[in-house]
This record gives sequence, structure tokens and C-alpha cells, in this order.
Amino acid sequence: MSANLDEKVQPLFDEVLKRNPGETEFHQAVREVVETLGPVLAKRPELASAKIVERICEPERQLIFRVPWADDSGEVHVNRGFRVEFNSALGPYKGGLRFHPSVNLGIVKFLGFEQVFKNALTGMPIGGGKGGSDFDPKGRSDSEVMRFCQSFMTELYRHLGEYTDVPAGDIGVGGREIGYLFGQYKRITNRYESGVLTGKGLNWGGAQVRKEATGYGCVLFTAEMLAARDLALEGMRVAVSGSGNVAVYAIEKAQQLGARVVTCSDSSGYVVDEKGIDVELLKQVKEVERGRVSDYARQRGADAHFVSGSSVWEVPCDVALPSATQNELTGSDATTLVRNGVRAVAEGANMPTTPEGARVFAEAGVAFAPGKAANAGGVATSALEMQQNASRDTWTFSHTEERLAEIMRHVHDSCYETAERYGRPGDYVAGANIAGFELVAEAMLAQGLI
Ligand code: GLU
Repeated sequence: MSANLDEKVQPLFDEVLKRNPGETEFHQAVREVVETLGPVLAKRPELASAKIVERICEPERQLIFRVPWADDSGEVHVNRGFRVEFNSALGPYKGGLRFHPSVNLGIVKFLGFEQVFKNALTGMPIGGGKGGSDFDPKGRSDSEVMRFCQSFMTELYRHLGEYTDVPAGDIGVGGREIGYLFGQYKRITNRYESGVLTGKGLNWGGAQVRKEATGYGCVLFTAEMLAARDLALEGMRVAVSGSGNVAVYAIEKAQQLGARVVTCSDSSGYVVDEKGIDVELLKQVKEVERGRVSDYARQRGADAHFVSGSSVWEVPCDVALPSATQNELTGSDATTLVRNGVRAVAEGANMPTTPEGARVFAEAGVAFAPGKAANAGGVATSALEMQQNASRDTWTFSHTEERLAEIMRHVHDSCYETAERYGRPGDYVAGANIAGFELVAEAMLAQGLI
């Protein structure tokens, strides 16, 4: 895959490969973290002797279950459900559910592993987990989605609880699905346990800014990263991939801060809109009509055009915000972006850049923010939702947005300072991994061998 690992971590990584055969995304995520941990282990031998890294790489619990459901014509389908409860050193397991045909154990483990470090970086009391199903919501009616969610929760509920495990959304799971999941949890348990799921509707326990938080937070992180280089987002040309919840609100916040966002995309292609994406129209197409970006281009008229089947990263930009899915930005995409003068890249999605892509950015001196730092605003605002649920309080939009901005500043500064402390100035990948690891490791040491 790439250069050899430090001799302290190579055997650890070999063990992960052996124990988790075929889980390539999980291997990729683990490798990217352990690659940066050599100097930490050298400085802190007690972490090595307590086998903290080995323990962090092994989920505390992995659940796999059958999800049977019937479609509108009465035909029976069987999907597979997952929940990986990865690490609870800092708080209850916290992380989203993904419904997408590509979901398998390896994908859920990579996401859960990243979530552990991301959640630590937010400074909030949340451990890491992830779940989902290979169910494909595309083309399914509301009532099919509801029946699927009910069946999924009929198994999952026994593993959840506001002090145990608190899921939220991810790809394919938004407000509608959280509603159906919550309804079923409430019905089975006979408890209105608001804090058991986040991303709820605003009038039944949800938090202001939660929907916007991942995209907004990614742009706030980008602004901090640019400021550290004496640059500003205002006036910059931004390319965003994806058109889901993260992308839409990254576009909105980037435009609020004076940037011009010229792209969005989905699995069929991308849109270029030189005047700047009309975010209200995009919301209408995606959130109300549940349409495609080609529908956006058609409705937008002459200002925008749709390009099918090629990479959005061929569009020149100053800032790139990959906000679609894992491994969507390859080494050759990164080379194209660098050739076209990109200055900063922040991952709105989880692990959207391949290891080769990340290397190209590092070698070219491009400011690069890994997802576990740049997209931490979503889960951080979930933790704010839990806080409001626990105190039976609701905060205003502006207060919640201020808290999000503070948290993103904190995430940025701790990555930045940790990278400096370990002699890797400007390396947000090392900074995020080490800062997140130190927090989790410290708690695990304190809690003993469990
Ligand atoms: N799925 C989101 C993430 O990747 C949010 C998780 C949450 O809010 O629990 O961080």
C-alpha cells in the first residue's frame, strides 16, 4: 500500500490485517492512524506495555443481525444490520447509521474506528461506534423505509440507551429515518428516552443546527486552517462533491463566508455552476423532491451544466471539500487539483481521500484536513443535542451555532498544536490522530484493563 511502518507499529498492524481479513477500508483507516503513532509510543512506553493501540484496534463489541421486511407488494426481503460498539473510554458509544448497498462489516468498522478519534477530538463525553445496513433506500416508498426502520430497530433497541449507545444518521439515514427508528424504540421500550438517538425533529427533542452541523463545521474548520496560513475563504472558488446533507450545508456556509461554490455531484456525475450553486434550489431538489443533481442543473437553466460520468475534481478550485463518500478522491484527482492550484482540502465525508491522494497533497504543501477533524461538527452537535435532552432544554439556533464554532476552533487548535508538539507543523493528519489517540489512551489507562 505504501512505505513501511515504524518498527513499533508494524507488528500491531500485521495483527490487524491477520485478524480482520478482507476488510480493506478498515485496514486503510487503521494504517493511517498507526502510521502517525510511532513517536507517541516511543515517548510513552506505558501505553505500549498496556497494549493500548492493540486494544483500540479491536472493537469492544460487534453486532450483526438479520433485518427482514416486506415491500409494498408484499414481497419479503432480508437485509443485514450492523452495530459496531468500538470504544467507550470517553462516553457512551456514539456514531451514525448508514443505509447503503455497499455497507458491510469492514465499512462499519472503518467508520467506527474513525469515529473514536473524531469524537475524542470534539472534547465532548462521547465514545465511538457506527452501524447500518446494506439496505438500499433508493427508489423505496416512505412506507417501505418505515417498515425497514422498524424491523432494524426491533433488533437494535436492546443494545441502545442514552448511557450505552446513541446512534444518529449517516449516508441514507436522515430526519425521516431517525423519526421511524425513534418511534419504534419508544413503542418497544415504552420510554420517551430522547437521548437515545440524535438528529431528531426539532419539535420532538432534536437540536437546532444538527442538520447543518457537519457541513457548517467543515467550512469553519477550513476557515481556521486558512487563517493559520494568513488566508481567508472570502473570494475563494470552492469545489464540493456530493449533494447529501454534508455537501448542501457546506455549500451554504461557504457562501455565507463569501466563497463561490461552483460544483456539487452524485453517483451519476457533477454539476458546474459558474455563478455559484443556488443552495435553496439544491435543497428543494434534494430534500423535498429527493431528486438528482441532473434535476438541479435542468431547473437552474443556462447557468449550470451537468457532466456525466467523470470526476468533479477536474474542475479548477482554490478549496476542495470532498463530501460524498470514502475513497472518492484518488491520487490522480489530487494531482489534477494540485496542478490547478488547490490550496486547501477539507474532508466533509469520512475518508474520501485515498492514501495516495493524501500523499500528493502533503508533498505539494496543500493544507489538508482529515475527516475525523474537519467533519467532527456533526457528531459534536449530536453531543449538544444529548446535553439538551438530558437537561430538558432547547437552545436557539444562534447559541448552538456559536457552540459549534467554538468546538471547531478547539478541534483545529488541538490538531495544530499537537502536530507542532510532535515536530510535524501543519500536518493535520498527524495532529488529529495523535491528539485523539492521547485522549482515548489516557482514559483507557485510567480505567484499567477492561
Ligand atoms: N455520521 C456522522 C459522523 O460521521 C454523525 C454521527 C453522530 O452524530 O453520531 O460523524
